[in-house]
Amino acid sequence: MQGDNNFDLGLLNAMNNRLLKDEGIYRLLIDKSGEAFAYYSFADRRTECLGDWEHFFGFSANEYISISQIMDLVDSSYTAELYECLMLERRGKEKETIEFRLEGKDLWIELETTVIYDGNKNPLTRMYCFRDVTKYRVLNDELSYMAYYDSLTGLLNRNYFVKCLEEMIDKAKSNDCIVSVLFLDIDDFRRINDSMGLIVGDEVMQKLGMVLRDYVSDNVRVSHFNGDIFCIAIYDPVGVRSVDNVIKTLKKKLETPFNLSNGAETTITLSIGIAEFPESSKEAMELINLAEIVMFKAKHRGKNNVQYFDAPIIQEFIYNIELEHKMEKALKAGNFFMCYQPQYDADGVHLRGIEALVRWRDEDGRIISPGSFIPVAEKNGTILQLGEFVIEQSLADYSRLIDKYGQKDVILSINISAIQFKSKNFVNFLMNTIKKYNVPPTQIELEITESVFIDDMEDIVAKMNVLREIGIRFSMDDFGTGFSSLSYLRSLPIDTLKIDKSFVDTVVTDGPTRTIAEAIIDLSKKLGFDTIAEGVEEEVQYSLLKNIGCENIQGFYFGKPMEMEDIDKLYKEY
Ligand code: C2E
Ligand code: MG
Ligand code: MG
Repeated sequence: MQGDNNFDLGLLNAMNNRLLKDEGIYRLLIDKSGEAFAYYSFADRRTECLGDWEHFFGFSANEYISISQIMDLVDSSYTAELYECLMLERRGKEKETIEFRLEGKDLWIELETTVIYDGNKNPLTRMYCFRDVTKYRVLNDELSYMAYYDSLTGLLNRNYFVKCLEEMIDKAKSNDCIVSVLFLDIDDFRRINDSMGLIVGDEVMQKLGMVLRDYVSDNVRVSHFNGDIFCIAIYDPVGVRSVDNVIKTLKKKLETPFNLSNGAETTITLSIGIAEFPESSKEAMELINLAEIVMFKAKHRGKNNVQYFDAPIIQEFIYNIELEHKMEKALKAGNFFMCYQPQYDADGVHLRGIEALVRWRDEDGRIISPGSFIPVAEKNGTILQLGEFVIEQSLADYSRLIDKYGQKDVILSINISAIQFKSKNFVNFLMNTIKKYNVPPTQIELEITESVFIDDMEDIVAKMNVLREIGIRFSMDDFGTGFSSLSYLRSLPIDTLKIDKSFVDTVVTDGPTRTIAEAIIDLSKKLGFDTIAEGVEEEVQYSLLKNIGCENIQGFYFGKPMEMEDIDKLYKEY
């Protein structure tokens, strides 16, 4: 038996040692975890503390006696909530977690309280676990900042702005108020970016953001929407926050140049579109869209402009969008075709040339005039594709005429939009197509308008000279409708001047018009240009123009634009 007892004692000792060793390991683990624990037994009213209490409360685990030591340190705004969580058994709950701070400390502490009850719902034990969650809170704050604010300007970001606007609208519905949305776009921002670089561009936006921040209040929200676009939402726009006042003061502020870090100064102007709840729309996103659409109108009217919501502008916009879609489809479906209008020498006999004029046959067979779709195509860029079709088709048609009836002294005039002419690929495409159809370049005349020269005259002239080298001619279309400065004509490499129909219309009835027409023709000759009068409809117009020295005539009087079949006959007989 003795031996057995010894054996039992030995076993007990071994087990005890093992437990002590395990406890040592657990304590070490707990200390390393950076957390602080308190274990309370309701039966013996004893608390056992473990872990890094020092880190949280400035006293060690052994020094903890009661929760009042913690309560004394807590930031007063958390006192009540923390107390509730510390005394969790009072509410019969098993587990709860809260976050709190201590007075004057940067720490964010998470407390997790767990209470275990017996079968009769009497609490047996309660455990506190304090964790340092400062790192996560800071990250979380940053994330929520990113979710609401734009990092460049500190203004509201797009999503949050829309949410705020929705809230404003809800409030306005109950209070029968107006909400104004201002859509702001920096004029010529691309020029700032291109000339001074993206970093300076960002700085300009930051500066504007600072100016706009001054307007922020409970009733005014400002957003850096995206790119160079900013939006302002004004609840109940009256008094200082009336739209007129905001715009007036904003314009005034923007008169002072921004001082940039590269030492430069720059002033900016804005194009502003305005839409209002409930008149323009009752939906936040739609209000923003409408304000944007009318903003484009403001920009079109010459920048630094303001445009209020206006139903016809929106209708025109919708019409143009529909036209855009239809046009893209029509291009794919091959619903565009070419007509040609003859141009005659003033003698009315010699066929001087044919002008290629594009037509669109709609699905219902109706012909849509280029006067309505070319401007839309120019705006949305479809003109590039359409322009290539025009070049390809008219050169193909013209080369067929040459193949059939031989080369004649008839010029093919092709209208070229400014955007098309300025596009990178234009010269290449034209040259390749000329080669492809083997058309003599000297028979080709490109009709351009003054708008081509507006931005970069030097580049354009250089491009024209490249083409003129191979014999291509240029004519100035619609002369007299643009800025029509006679002095600049001298420096342009053109061959022909087309006197606009608006002159021809009144040349017979209006003395001054006749005088101007005479002067243009005279000057044109002296500069060595060919002249063509366009839109000649009547005999009297024709004979008068002929008398004052106009060399060529184009108009319904001699021939309307005609389809290939008819131009084929004309060319054949000529
Ligand atoms: P535009 O180049 O000045 O063409 C002359 C326009 O006047 C043509 O209208 C022609 O049909 C019309 N016209 C000619 N004689 C008379 C006349 O005696 N009376 C009247 N009332 N009108 C006359 P269309 O074909 O409707 O073209 C309008 C404009 O559309 C053109 O003006 C041109 O700017 C543009 N366009 C037409 N085809 C093309 C094209 O293929 N490419 C480009 N980029 N623009 C084109
Ligand atoms: Mg023309
Ligand atoms: Mg014209």
